[in-house]
Amino acid sequence: MSAQTSDNNLVASPDEPDNPDAGALTNPEPVADPDPQLWQRKKKGPLAESLKAVAGFGVTFRNFFRPYVTEQYPFEKVPTQPRYHGRHQLNRYPDGLEKCVGCELCAWACPADAIYVEAAANTPEAQYSAGERYGRVYEINYLRCIFCGMCIEACPTRALTMSNDYEIWDDNREDLIFEKDRLLVPLNAGMLSTPHPMASGTSDMDYYNGSVTGATPDQIDWVASHRPQDASLVSAGKPAQEVKA
Ligand code: SF4
Ligand code: SF4
Repeated sequence: MSAQTSDNNLVASPDEPDNPDAGALTNPEPVADPDPQLWQRKKKGPLAESLKAVAGFGVTFRNFFRPYVTEQYPFEKVPTQPRYHGRHQLNRYPDGLEKCVGCELCAWACPADAIYVEAAANTPEAQYSAGERYGRVYEINYLRCIFCGMCIEACPTRALTMSNDYEIWDDNREDLIFEKDRLLVPLNAGMLSTPHPMASGTSDMDYYNGSVTGATPDQIDWVASHRPQDASLVSAGKPAQEVKA
């Protein structure tokens, strides 16, 4: 016979005739104490005992005759693995608009509470990202960051990625809180500095799907009429090879 517990699990009854473990459930065999010799170290002979102190230097002596492996950092920098988790960067679309939409998912995903984001709405006169909102304030506290990469996994637009730069140091706490000016990637050749409108007739999904491949004439005209001195106008919309030449 089986009894039924409150959460519907069947429990073997000790009275059940065809249950071989019935007795074991009620009268478990006492477990014998383990052999006290089991974990005892074997006694060494008198010679080994007397050489114990010298044997401690065995690793040191062995390494005397091996080639040096000292890395000459910072004079010789060691390349990282391609997917090394280094300093973060905030990316842009090919026309220069920021990918970050200020959703704060990266900040929520961070186990070290190292990210602070404050979003603001884009307006027709000040459009910084391809979407409704952009990250007006974006900070990463490198005194807290453990470089786990959870934040970049959480980012829905691939705005946040990690570079291979591992030289993050300073002599004061304040400068180890990186703000947007140090996290946002510089403009690539052909990009237009923000703010400027999205490419006409496109949505944020077109940007996300890679349909926007560079600054359009409409965007260039808009920046030329609002900021005629903008340095990015010189190369905006031109292919990278043309800009380099
Ligand atoms: S790498 Fe990890 S600890 Fe650093 S900011 Fe991203 S989620 Fe936080
Ligand atoms: S970096 Fe990505 S996850 Fe973080 S606020 Fe910007 S869009 Fe959202």
